[in-house]
Amino acid sequence: MEMTLILLKPDTIERALIGEVISRLEAKGLRIAGLKMMQLDDAIIDEHYDFLTDKPFYPEIKGYMSRNPIVAIAASGANAVKTVRALTGATDPQEALPGSIRGDLGLTISGNIIHASDSLETAEKELARFFKGQDIYDYTRPCDGIL
Ligand code: ADP
Repeated sequence: MEMTLILLKPDTIERALIGEVISRLEAKGLRIAGLKMMQLDDAIIDEHYDFLTDKPFYPEIKGYMSRNPIVAIAASGANAVKTVRALTGATDPQEALPGSIRGDLGLTISGNIIHASDSLETAEKELARFFKGQDIYDYTRPCDGIL
């Protein structure tokens, strides 16, 4: 079963949307395997967004991602990486389709609610970045039998 890394960014916490986003993940059938709140420091933001450090908007991303805690989620399910990216929607909420998390809940790219791993390879690296092995739980829900 695939597992992917999701971050609920500080605007999600600030706007009291943690439950709304987690509800959408669970309603889709994804299983929450790990869940924790963290305050990100410069080192982990630089590692997570290393492909963006030379962009002019990188200082804005750093300020955004560290201004309040985030919620890190390890979610598993069939085709979890692609499924969560589809639920997430396009990077810019103005382009994200209604029905997607960013399309329904975001307004600007500076507050796009959620991060989701973009490939299986990235998911493995990102899960290791945010979760230690013992923080991820393997359990079966009654509904897993029908998903
Ligand atoms: P995604 O989060 O959809 O995978 P990227 O990996 O391209 O998108 O970008 C990572 C994050 O950087 C975005 O989610 C967004 O928070 C931020 N970002 C990307 N482009 C911009 C931009 N032009 N201005 C401000 N922030 C941006």
